[in-house]
Amino acid sequence: MTDLRSADTVATTATALEASPPPYVISGGLAARLARRALTSPGAVAYDCVTPMTGGLLASLPQSTIENVEVAYRAAQAAQPRWAARSPHERARFLLRLHDLVLQHQDELLDLIQLESGKTRRHAFDEVLDVAGVCRHYARKGPGYLATKRRLGAIPLLSQARELRHPKGVVGVVAPWNYPLSMSITDALPALLAGNAVVLRPDNKSALTALRAVELIDQAGLPEGLLQVVLGDGPTVGNAVLERADYVMFTGSTATGRKVAAAAGERLIGASLELGGKNPMYVADDADLEGAAECAMRAMFSSAGQLCISIERLILHEKIADEFLGIFIPMVQQMKLGPELSWGNDMGSLISAEQLQRVTDHVEDAVSHGAKVLVGGRARPDLGPSFYEPTVLDGVTEEMTLCRQETFGPVVAVRRVAGDAEAVAMANDSEYGLNASVWTRDTARGRGIGNQIRCGTVNVNEGYAAAWASNGAPMGGMGQSGIGRRHGAEGIQKYTESQNVTVQYGPGFAIPKGVPPKTWARAMSVGMKLMKAGRLS
Ligand code: NAD
Repeated sequence: MTDLRSADTVATTATALEASPPPYVISGGLAARLARRALTSPGAVAYDCVTPMTGGLLASLPQSTIENVEVAYRAAQAAQPRWAARSPHERARFLLRLHDLVLQHQDELLDLIQLESGKTRRHAFDEVLDVAGVCRHYARKGPGYLATKRRLGAIPLLSQARELRHPKGVVGVVAPWNYPLSMSITDALPALLAGNAVVLRPDNKSALTALRAVELIDQAGLPEGLLQVVLGDGPTVGNAVLERADYVMFTGSTATGRKVAAAAGERLIGASLELGGKNPMYVADDADLEGAAECAMRAMFSSAGQLCISIERLILHEKIADEFLGIFIPMVQQMKLGPELSWGNDMGSLISAEQLQRVTDHVEDAVSHGAKVLVGGRARPDLGPSFYEPTVLDGVTEEMTLCRQETFGPVVAVRRVAGDAEAVAMANDSEYGLNASVWTRDTARGRGIGNQIRCGTVNVNEGYAAAWASNGAPMGGMGQSGIGRRHGAEGIQKYTESQNVTVQYGPGFAIPKGVPPKTWARAMSVGMKLMKAGRLS
């Protein structure tokens, strides 16, 4: 087997790796070093990390027990008060250092992301950009989002209200596998900045990348004890993490999210749930068709469609439908697929045999009910065990599973509409409401359509990246796509308890001595009218 790295040198260059032929393996020394950053037990059965690139064993990963989770919580609880006592500005410093470290160590991070997920290098690079963007945004804006604010009191000047934000305590984060770097740490960063400690359970399929990112967070100066990591499956270790949390941050399927929300509800703690989607893209009759087609490839096939905000429904205005497909389908046909650790490929592998099975089942079901394959529609075992071609289906109807269910793979269904109203109705005809894309040369028309679509993010003349990477604005799901938001003020304030401390001066609410209650009530009524006239809310 080709040993990609020595135990001690991690910063191997991408060029060196590009020269290394598969099968890939992470050196035992590196895997052991990364695993030391998690609390695990020799008694727990190790997890075999397999690379989707080749199906070969990457590393053997020790696992955590419930006792490890308990120890992690005790350590996090012990470290948190001292951290919370620091000012938000002081706490924010590690984020700017992390921003630089992630960019500086991008080659090794890209290798790990690719090896664990099977995605192409350019899709892995989206994760580097995302982490750097989140670090920069919260380092600069986070202290403002957390700052104590003066609020108008009940009686102007006499009631002085302050809104404070306190950390929740210890936030439990259960992260999925599809974005090994980005999904593993970006939710923990605002939680930490808000003064919390975090117990993180990255998915086993993406744990090596997550652990390397946690090492970089340590290097960036986050004090010891605040970020605890445990490793294990969802129903046992993941569940144990969420059961002990003061606040739950979960990303995954809607089915699991429902269980997580029910358990949080039972304990009366808050939860932020980032769940599935069946995301539409509408191409209007005045759209830039070349631009829309180029973007559609990214929006549908990034990370082989295993992206929660990925487009799975392509809604075309009937006037341009054939012309658009005439541009788009040849582009998809020419996409280069492959498992290399290099920049050349357009799409990589699915994560696992299970995902491959799900995608295969969805396409076979659609075809058996009469859908037409415009391009793709086949597994590609010649490239790797879980490769599947980017696939566009026409003639999708209600009885097909993929018409409404999320495929979470590189499969998109074409529908045609006569105009914007029908497009909006079709876009909204889903239990999900995560992301949408609208293409038109008329920006006002695009905004107007976007405002009517019931999705947490709508991208006009982009597929997903514009709204996702606009870190100052919220991102999350409506309907069955989730509760709570990432990014912006909401993405950090959710990790806090807001508190109102109001100081009352003067006579306040007591009826002054000697004033008849009726006279006092009249005076107060006049006061209310004056406040309305003075536009004091
Ligand atoms: P899943 O719900 O089966 O698993 C998601 C994660 O939850 C995994 O890491 C799993 O180990 C963990 N888990 C499972 N059961 C658990 C439990 N009882 N308690 C705690 N953790 C548990 O989903 P999946 O099929 O692995 O992931 C794909 C889904 O995730 C898709 O629906 C996708 O849209 C969604 N997703 C959403 C976002 C978003 O930001 N909205 C991002 C990525 C993925």
